[in-house]
Amino acid sequence: MADVLKKVPVREQDPQVRATNFDEVCLGYNKEEAMEEAARCLNCKNAKCIEGCPVNINIPAFIKEVKEGKFEDAYKVISESSALPAICGRVCPQESQCEGKCIRGIKGEAVSIGKLERFVADWARENGIKPPAPENRTGRKVAVIGSGPAGLTCAGDLAKYGYDVTIFEALHEPGGVLVYGIPEFRLPKLDVVAKEVENVKSLGVKIETNVIIGKSITIDELMDEEGFEAVFIGSGAGLPMFMGIPGETAKGVFSANEYLTRNNLMKAFREDYDTPIVHGKKVAVVGGGNVAMDAARTALRLGAEVHIVYRRSEAELPARAEEVHHAKEEGIIFDLLTNPKEILVDENDSVCGIRCIRMELGEPDASGRRRPVEIPGSEFDIDVDTVIMSLGTSPNPLISSTTIGLDVNKRKCIVADDTTGQTSKDGVFAGGDAVTGAATVILAMGAGKAAAKGIHEFLSAKN
Ligand SMILES: Cc1cc2nc3c(=O)[nH]c(=O)nc-3n(C[C@H](O)[C@H](O)[C@H](O)COP(=O)(O)OP(=O)(O)OC[C@H]3O[C@@H](n4cnc5c(N)ncnc54)[C@H](O)[C@@H]3O)c2cc1C
Repeated sequence: MADVLKKVPVREQDPQVRATNFDEVCLGYNKEEAMEEAARCLNCKNAKCIEGCPVNINIPAFIKEVKEGKFEDAYKVISESSALPAICGRVCPQESQCEGKCIRGIKGEAVSIGKLERFVADWARENGIKPPAPENRTGRKVAVIGSGPAGLTCAGDLAKYGYDVTIFEALHEPGGVLVYGIPEFRLPKLDVVAKEVENVKSLGVKIETNVIIGKSITIDELMDEEGFEAVFIGSGAGLPMFMGIPGETAKGVFSANEYLTRNNLMKAFREDYDTPIVHGKKVAVVGGGNVAMDAARTALRLGAEVHIVYRRSEAELPARAEEVHHAKEEGIIFDLLTNPKEILVDENDSVCGIRCIRMELGEPDASGRRRPVEIPGSEFDIDVDTVIMSLGTSPNPLISSTTIGLDVNKRKCIVADDTTGQTSKDGVFAGGDAVTGAATVILAMGAGKAAAKGIHEFLSAKN
């Protein structure tokens, strides 16, 4: 008899095997496992899990359908609220959202809502089921900038309201961080991301790639000359930060975004692509967030010994516990309470090491986490040939600097209303990382959804 206090375990690739390939780590539930896990849901009347989901999926309703083996009906429930369920089922931090609110979690383990969402979305894809196409079309044109989760969600919802929506994307492939940042072994590109992008297109959304708003055309031109009545900016936060320490411009130093883009979007890991990337033998990744874990696990799969260099202790690591666990299982070395002081460079201006200093934790700082303090005289060198900086990102100022009347804050984030996405410029809305700074897929989707409603109300009032 299964223990109802525990989640039905999910199958994963063996750590030794997966450390040498880019195939997906988590294998997901099969039908029987999904139905067994769904039976753990208490179907609460006042379901807290829905409040924990930024796009408000009716979680108990879809899980009830899974429990009864009605997978198509489960998909219909999910797709009323989410355009990207196979993606969210894989990358959302459920432990702090829907699953964090699950009543089952009080005495035992929360229901595995994320894995059930993933199962339903995968089942729908494998069985050729798509979200229903909208029937009414207003013919009114709305532009969406950026095809990440914020842009895709906003565009999908606008299409459902009946608008003629075009997404303009700077890169050659749609998906934003979903294609260029998150690695294949966590989020398959062709089988999952491309298919969910196709689903958004099947709602009538057009996507124009290789268009950089602010360079190819401006927002003012889209509105004044191209007939777009409203614009949504979902351009993300793709500008990497650096430490400003000596040696950071040497050969062999990457931002995590560049390293991951070369590998994920430009397929450096595949022999049939000629994207240049340093196949470091010993790699240091500086930072402790999810992006750092992704960069480290990618470098490991490219054959390196990998060190995570992080200035606080394990308890403060900002990455999801699951990501840290996977990284450790695969053999990543964690140099905690360690901070880089200088990148060591040889006579060819190539990285040959990283000089670090040991840290201890002092009083809590503004973030509430204990502040790392250097231990004088504790400098030491780690022998590496590649350094990947993963210290966070901010929005690229291109759009704000080329749009008349668009306000940004001190952090260069676009200022937008939380509930409608309205910016300081009439008819221009924004959401996702471009507004919040680097956050999560589901928060970006929630913002895209709210802005679609805001745009619909704005255009309806204009009529
Ligand atoms: C490596 C990595 C791993 C992550 N892992 C997770 C995770 O596991 N779970 C999670 O929830 N979140 C994760 N995140 C964060 C999450 O991916 C982001 O919060 C989310 O993608 C933000 O969505 P967005 O639509 O606002 O922006 P983005 O996904 O950044 O998309 C913005 C898009 O706009 C385009 N663009 C930018 N400027 C222009 C322009 N001028 N003209 C036209 N197009 C433009 C960009 O090319 C991009 O395609 C991760 C982030 C990274 C970098």
